[in-house]
Amino acid sequence: MSNETNLKSMNDLVALCKSRGFIFQSSEVYGGLNSCYDMGPYGVELKNNLKARWWKSMTFRPDVVGIDASILMHPTVWKASGHVDGFSDPLVDCKACKERYRADKIDIKQPCPKCGAKDSFTDIRQFNLMFKTQMGAMEDTASMVYLRPETAQGIFVNFLNVQTTMRKKLPFGIAQIGKAFRNEITPGNFIFRMREFEQMEMQYFIKPGTQKEAMEQWKEARWKWHLDNGIRAEKLKWYKQEELAHYADAAFDIEYEFPFGWGEIEGIHSRTDFDLKQHEEFSGKNLHYVDQVNNNEKYIPYVLETSVGADRGLLMVLCDAYRVENAGDKDNERTVMKFHPSLAPIKVAVLPLMKKPELEECANKVLFDLMQNYRCEYDVSGTIGKRYRRQDEIGTPFCVTIDYDSLTDHSVTVRNRDTMVQERISMNKLESYLKDKLKF
Ligand code: ATP
Repeated sequence: MSNETNLKSMNDLVALCKSRGFIFQSSEVYGGLNSCYDMGPYGVELKNNLKARWWKSMTFRPDVVGIDASILMHPTVWKASGHVDGFSDPLVDCKACKERYRADKIDIKQPCPKCGAKDSFTDIRQFNLMFKTQMGAMEDTASMVYLRPETAQGIFVNFLNVQTTMRKKLPFGIAQIGKAFRNEITPGNFIFRMREFEQMEMQYFIKPGTQKEAMEQWKEARWKWHLDNGIRAEKLKWYKQEELAHYADAAFDIEYEFPFGWGEIEGIHSRTDFDLKQHEEFSGKNLHYVDQVNNNEKYIPYVLETSVGADRGLLMVLCDAYRVENAGDKDNERTVMKFHPSLAPIKVAVLPLMKKPELEECANKVLFDLMQNYRCEYDVSGTIGKRYRRQDEIGTPFCVTIDYDSLTDHSVTVRNRDTMVQERISMNKLESYLKDKLKF
């Protein structure tokens, strides 16, 4: 649509997320907790839909199974993975204004970006991003555990459990969705960088030497997944990491163009045999795979990882869906969240034209039928125009309006969110009409 504009500023999205019940600041009544957020009623539906689509795309295939590992793990896991010694960001403070920066995100030879002071930065210090907590009653170092900073290690330490119980042959993958915690130095940009967030990770175990083809296969699959969710291709790009993490021999990120610039959404990393080797060494347990197809050859598999943030993915979905039509035209301006119908938190809104018993009775019947298949919402308060606008901002693909004619002609008006076209549909054809449009 020519009179349609995209999201320009994060403030507009933050305001809509709050006013429409998608996302709230954590502990808001106490002034909020920095970089922690709560999903509201529509936010949780949207995020659940995104996670369900990821889970389906991963586990509805013969070579991937899921697990759900615990957040607290044996502390040696994080020694073996390299997180205790190496999971840190370089930190500098401006001595003049006290602003804190990640030294790898600014040029420390330049003046402070906030106050403009010259030569004001402290020496670079390494800051470990893992949260520590105590397990059990004794507050000594022996009972110290970490909140996991990534979900991947829960998969690695379960590699043999899954492989043997599921009788899996290489290549196969293990998928997991779960919370991760990082004490980020510079959180921000709403839910882009949080201290508590959710990851959707899949580790694909492969024969050493096949990592290049696995990389190609998963790069293609993961790119397509984002497009299938309705994300516009021109807003996505690949970024090849030149400076690789110690465990990787190749790494690509999918980036999205947010209003504040390009940001990483998903990492696709070739992690070699680093993690399993480390766990073998630190645990003293044999984690070799016996390749029955190749003369019982024994080796440690290589790993191809895909890792996408559920919350960062959600932020991308919200930014991409946000449109303003006829901006500045007081009577015709509307904000509409053009979610892919599969992600929309509410699929159908049922709206009696007026608050009259006979219309509400009829509308309730329609609602009851639709609720068997779709998440629906019923709204009777306010003018019909206002109710349509509200559903537009929630991103509801269809509104079904019941008016006085409905009582005699047994038809309803179905309004399309994106085109605003209204069609008169017979009540007994409504279900098949929507089924066709909400097929995914
Ligand atoms: P960044 O460079 O942005 O810190 P990263 O490279 O450390 O991210 P990974 O460790 O590869 O991120 O994590 C995989 C995915 O988890 C990221 O692509 C992102 O979607 C998500 N993620 C990582 N850190 C955060 C965070 N602090 N808040 C929200 N999502 C995050």
